[in-house]
Amino acid sequence: MGTQGPGVGLMPNMAGANATPYMNNQYGSNQSNQLQNQMGKLSVQQTATQAVNLLDGRNMLPPQKDDINSSLTPDMQKKNARANILCCTLSNVPENDSLLKKCKLPFGILVHPFKDLSNLAVIQSSTIVRCRSCRTYINPFVTFTESRRWRCNMCYRINEVPEEFCYDPTTKSYGEPTRRPEIKSATYEFIAPSEYMLRAPQPAAYVFAFDVSFNAIETGYLKMACELIKDNLDKMPGDSRALIGFLTFNKSVNFYNLRNDQSQPHMLIVSDIDDIFLPAPEDLLVNLKENKEMIIQFLDSLPETFASTRDIHSATGAAMQAALKLMTATGGRITIFQTTLPSVGPGALENRDEPGVKSNPKDTAKLNPATDFYKKLALDCAADQVSVDIFQLSSQYADCSSLMCAAKYSGGCFSYFPNFHISRNRAMVEKFENDLVRYITRKIGFEAVMRVRCTKGLSIHTFHGNFFVRSTDLLSLPNVNPDSAFGMQISIEDNLTDVGLACFQSALLYTSSRGERRIRVHNLALPVTKKMNDVYAGANASAIALMLSKMAVDRTLTASLGDAREALLNAVVDCLGVYKSVVSGRSGEMIAPNSLKYLPLYILSLLKQTSFRLGSTANLDTKCYEMQQLKVMPFDVALLTIYPALYSLHDMTDEGAITTKSGSVPQPPRLILSGEKLSRVGIFLMDAGQEFYIWVGKDAAHADIQCLFGVANYESIPEDMGALPILDNSLSSRVRALIDYLQSERTNHANLYILRDNSKMRMKFITKLMNDRTESMMSYHEFLIHIQGQIN
Ligand SMILES: [Zn+2]
Repeated sequence: MGTQGPGVGLMPNMAGANATPYMNNQYGSNQSNQLQNQMGKLSVQQTATQAVNLLDGRNMLPPQKDDINSSLTPDMQKKNARANILCCTLSNVPENDSLLKKCKLPFGILVHPFKDLSNLAVIQSSTIVRCRSCRTYINPFVTFTESRRWRCNMCYRINEVPEEFCYDPTTKSYGEPTRRPEIKSATYEFIAPSEYMLRAPQPAAYVFAFDVSFNAIETGYLKMACELIKDNLDKMPGDSRALIGFLTFNKSVNFYNLRNDQSQPHMLIVSDIDDIFLPAPEDLLVNLKENKEMIIQFLDSLPETFASTRDIHSATGAAMQAALKLMTATGGRITIFQTTLPSVGPGALENRDEPGVKSNPKDTAKLNPATDFYKKLALDCAADQVSVDIFQLSSQYADCSSLMCAAKYSGGCFSYFPNFHISRNRAMVEKFENDLVRYITRKIGFEAVMRVRCTKGLSIHTFHGNFFVRSTDLLSLPNVNPDSAFGMQISIEDNLTDVGLACFQSALLYTSSRGERRIRVHNLALPVTKKMNDVYAGANASAIALMLSKMAVDRTLTASLGDAREALLNAVVDCLGVYKSVVSGRSGEMIAPNSLKYLPLYILSLLKQTSFRLGSTANLDTKCYEMQQLKVMPFDVALLTIYPALYSLHDMTDEGAITTKSGSVPQPPRLILSGEKLSRVGIFLMDAGQEFYIWVGKDAAHADIQCLFGVANYESIPEDMGALPILDNSLSSRVRALIDYLQSERTNHANLYILRDNSKMRMKFITKLMNDRTESMMSYHEFLIHIQGQIN
């Protein structure tokens, strides 16, 4: 790059004092000044790192796609995993720990290992080529030396290239190893031979456990869940060996014998919930295909069985223990439908919520689990290759924080449908329907482990997501689903001097629903640099924001909300402070490197999330749920949740429209999230990742309102209108095409809420106008001034 960056050796004492760049902050102004004095005599050129004055660019919007300024060649970049599968917070990796500490940027990777892919290279071969020393899978970033050898990009050992690797079955001839899919693509999947299994691949096995308390029946979820499961039985992943079982629970736990050789399903009630046992060990988990008629009969009759129940209890813990006993031999997936606070037996919980109380900086205890029962149960599940997934459909406090531990430590997932009611909450009903069908029919991997290898010198020190850590770099995932992502923080233990590339490889070993052992591998290689300038130039602001959000969740739970907020603020003050004083050499301005120009906006938006907002009156369950979501959401949805996309609909044009399978989709420009952008005569769409909002201005044109909503005027738009009617006009079809397209880009169902100025839900929309000032939080402009004050 030709840049005279400050040499690494110039400031031997700058980094040592601060153990971690993020949490241990305190890069106070004194040190900054001291640093500036030390650096004052150096002339620093800026070529790689173009500096931006943030106060000049108040109308800055995060980009649709990150434009990462890495010094990778385009050819190398092409060989890397797609950024929404595997990416790093720093696209130019610092050469040593001291440089990393100086830059005050978090170092870590984000991985979405089992994401649905449209084309995946699947490799079937009897030998899987791996480094003999560190077990890295051969990949596009190894180097071939003469005489059929390859050098490992993680540990640098020289390995033999097996003869088979050079043989091309299509041309039946020997050729260059570089034409192999493992060398040509960053992402590939092996069908693994027998040495990759500890036992014969397990069959797909599913146990559904339904809350049938009085409250559960009252919500009306049971009939809907039974119908959706019945309608999708044939689409559940699995082959002829697939197993299924059902439980219901109230004050007792009820098992069902569903073997086809009986005249009807047979219910077995176990009331001794403190010491749960299987009443008929053989017949409770049955072959899905062979017993399908009985299963359908059961699902048809179940809602009736409990229609007039008076039992208000919910023995959730015992039901989970029972479900685990059913699956001990095979492993598999437990699905719990829960509508109340678990009230009896093991794992019973108490109400800890104080409705309406604002979150204060010292909040911690109630955000943490009240008992370790569910964590212990999850670890027992993980030991038997069982995951627990929970559909939480409660209107009252249900202690999600405690319950979700069952999913968190078993590689499961927790979904929340607050205030679900079959007739009173149409939006939640629609979300439940879409999410449950996706859940039942999506791909699944069983008995999985994931290992992330990095170039020698780098090591992973903290993991984020739902899993059980088996050893320092091995995650146990009893189930792996295609909708969960992970984060890993990385430290530099040995200098990467003369290494050239820092590499990361995630390998997910799992049993497919068809009983194949498979290994999905993703690879990422990044250049190493000794220049601060380059580290800043390659900083990936969105990945940094996502990593900081995960760290802030941990900080909230282990220290306090106040500490987490302070750490978020410090993260941006520190890195921009160092950049300004050390790298740019400019003074008196609010400057940031081009790569980080959106970071303050992301941090401000994080501080305004329900999870981290001071004075939020959201209930405890909502806060806990939103925090866990930040840990597991796929990147794109997470970024939209943090900083939603706002579009203007009433004046949408065809400029830039794209053509998809279903036709033309308009691509309106994104707008700043500010009330200034909303006009009273307009109609706007906000994509907040997990929800869509359409905001209708008071004086929006009657013609537009008629075209879009099919009603005469503003006053006639119903309060709970949850979907756009299908109307035959161009505005209606274009807006629907846009929303369908945005929805198709994610797997979770995002509800649509249509809001008037006086709607009950309006605050949900208003609090997402991240650039604006609120009662307790600064506007974006004020925030920049605040950061500037902290830096100087
Ligand atoms: Zn190696």
